[in-house]
Amino acid sequence: MNIHEYQAKQLLSQYGVAVPPGEVCATAEQARAIAEKIFANGANLVVVKSQIHAGGRGKGTFKSGFQGGVKLCKTADDVFQKAQAMLGQVLVTKQTGPDGRLVSKLLVAAAPDIKKELYLAVLLDRATSRPLIMASTEGGVDIEEVAAKTPEKIVKEWIDPAIGIMPYQARKIASALQLKGDAFNSAVKLLAGVYKTWWECDASMVEINPLCIITGPDGKETLCAVDAKIGLDDNALYRQKNILEMRDLAEEAPLETEASKFQLNYIKLDGSIACLVNGAGLAMATMDIIQHFGGNPANFLDVGGGATKEQVTAAFKIILQDPNVRGILVNIFGGIMDCNVIATGIVAAVKETGLKLPLVVRLEGNNVIAGKQTLAESGLTLITGDSMADAAQKVVKAVGN
Ligand code: GDP
Ligand code: MG
Repeated sequence: MNIHEYQAKQLLSQYGVAVPPGEVCATAEQARAIAEKIFANGANLVVVKSQIHAGGRGKGTFKSGFQGGVKLCKTADDVFQKAQAMLGQVLVTKQTGPDGRLVSKLLVAAAPDIKKELYLAVLLDRATSRPLIMASTEGGVDIEEVAAKTPEKIVKEWIDPAIGIMPYQARKIASALQLKGDAFNSAVKLLAGVYKTWWECDASMVEINPLCIITGPDGKETLCAVDAKIGLDDNALYRQKNILEMRDLAEEAPLETEASKFQLNYIKLDGSIACLVNGAGLAMATMDIIQHFGGNPANFLDVGGGATKEQVTAAFKIILQDPNVRGILVNIFGGIMDCNVIATGIVAAVKETGLKLPLVVRLEGNNVIAGKQTLAESGLTLITGDSMADAAQKVVKAVGN
């Protein structure tokens, strides 16, 4: 699960990481009111930031033609105008793809005077099974580009998960970022807070780009998270109730959201053959075999080991909402799964949805005889596959690939 920048900043500030003061809003009037407060508190500049689950907003373009999803303003009236130009409009960035994302919330925040932009991220390094802190003096820009062109400008520090970040490691990173004096001390404190956020929130990634050197109210150099992105480990959300409440369904693919309501693992793909499978491994193998015989899968769908009739019906409805689908392959190996439950679900779903597309079913395993009988007695026109290869060939042929 991903969260918005303003939510990521709320979490970070709970762990003592400095972020510019600001508030989220959904109307231009609210944006103006927040800006007035920030100016009254002594800020010279206020930033208006589109809240979407994608980066590259600063350099993005709205479909309306308006340039930039991050704008600096000198007056509250300017904030009002920029907010009006962004709200309700679709922002296209390098990360959104050509469809872009609808902007329905803005973060209005104090815009500090930035002395230098740095890069900082904490993520899980699968190769070493350890948390990894990545930092670079080249902040603000595309980090992928830095990694490709000047990889020596990215420093990496692996953390022992049983111990957490050690002070010497924080100092090592601060030195690599060429920080000195007050900024150095501020970085050591900030790194501990950012790591703690990553660890305690069960994040898969925390990225601060840019992490900025600014002058604090006391005239000393200090570090501040001007942008923030947090990705969370879905498997840990059950113990992160506060974070789960931050979920924004409008930012997620609608069919995938619908699927998650029924505990179905669905991922939409670009092909024409919908698959309904139990077990992630079998689902992957089914996609492979469809491709092997010249077809293209329309989705990954794992209904799980113990799916109910309701889940199977929901799964059918979800795969059929994809307009590219021209045929369906049901591939079930009943271990825990009762084949007759699947068969009953298929019959109910086909009747309910009035399915006209070719449907190939391969059932094997637990209670398969009853399952096949249910299908045979249903009077539905479906094609049965004797093996996985046979079923895949039949569905590819049926959709005419
Ligand atoms: P992104 O484009 O989606 O990554 O959004 P960012 O929040 O990173 O903003 C893009 C760029 O806008 C940053 O790299 C900064 O150069 C600039 N920017 C964003 N917020 C501020 C701010 O508060 N003050 C100043 N001076 N510049 C900002
Ligand atoms: Mg950024």
